[in-house]
Amino acid sequence: MKADILKPIHDLIQRGALFVVNHSGGKDSQAMYLVLRDFVPAAQLVIVHADLGEVEWAGAVDHIRATTCGEPLHICRARRTLLEMIAERGMFPSPQQRQCTSDLKRGPIERTIRGLGATLVVNCMGMRAEESPARKKLVQFQRAGNKCVQRRVSTKGRLLHAGREWFEWLPIHDWTEAQVFAAIAAAGQQPHVVYSLGMTRFSCVFCIMASERDLATAARLATERPELLNDPHLYRKYIDLEKSTGQVMLMPSKSKGRRTLEEVTGVAA
Ligand code: SF4
Repeated sequence: MKADILKPIHDLIQRGALFVVNHSGGKDSQAMYLVLRDFVPAAQLVIVHADLGEVEWAGAVDHIRATTCGEPLHICRARRTLLEMIAERGMFPSPQQRQCTSDLKRGPIERTIRGLGATLVVNCMGMRAEESPARKKLVQFQRAGNKCVQRRVSTKGRLLHAGREWFEWLPIHDWTEAQVFAAIAAAGQQPHVVYSLGMTRFSCVFCIMASERDLATAARLATERPELLNDPHLYRKYIDLEKSTGQVMLMPSKSKGRRTLEEVTGVAA
């Protein structure tokens, strides 16, 4: 971790800040928690999980409980599920307009944090630079009021973090994937079982940002190992949504054009 970040973090700990672990149940959240557990007094740590319901892998919450030390775990849900959002809007979210992330994760998590009543908050997330060019550009530590955070306002234009000091911290932003797995192993833990079955990302089983390889693995697991999913019919539901909306889940590419999820994965629903 960069030395220039440690000083303000230590100051925030001394001032009694509440550190919030955004935990999806995935490997990066798991490794980030392990970092925070070593840094932050347990009484100043809480965990928040955005429950994505039918579209996330089964056992996410159990995995979080099994790999953390009993800190308060707050589980929040959006007003509507991802599949309901797609059906109502008649379109899938896109990497450029990730309404799914803001509506299903960031919004409910930030509402939950505000409901905790703390006036000094450090919101911790597990994004890593290595994951994508967009994530590489993210600032590892910043206070609300900086340009990036200030943009998050309510539909009425109210600054959502008003009345509290709010910082955002990405504790493992500069970590490699190998470091993530090594930290989990060093703690005597395992990542969620889907990693050992070929998945490289967690969260939504079928993610609009996923690699084709992950989508193919997810489709295979959804048909061969339905017990791994919260909804054994999930793959079929995505295929049906592609048909009813007339859209495809994955953005068409220049080299391969427009393809249905079944064409991308090679797995019939
Ligand atoms: S995991 Fe993917 S599909 Fe799910 S909310 Fe995040 S970006 Fe959207």
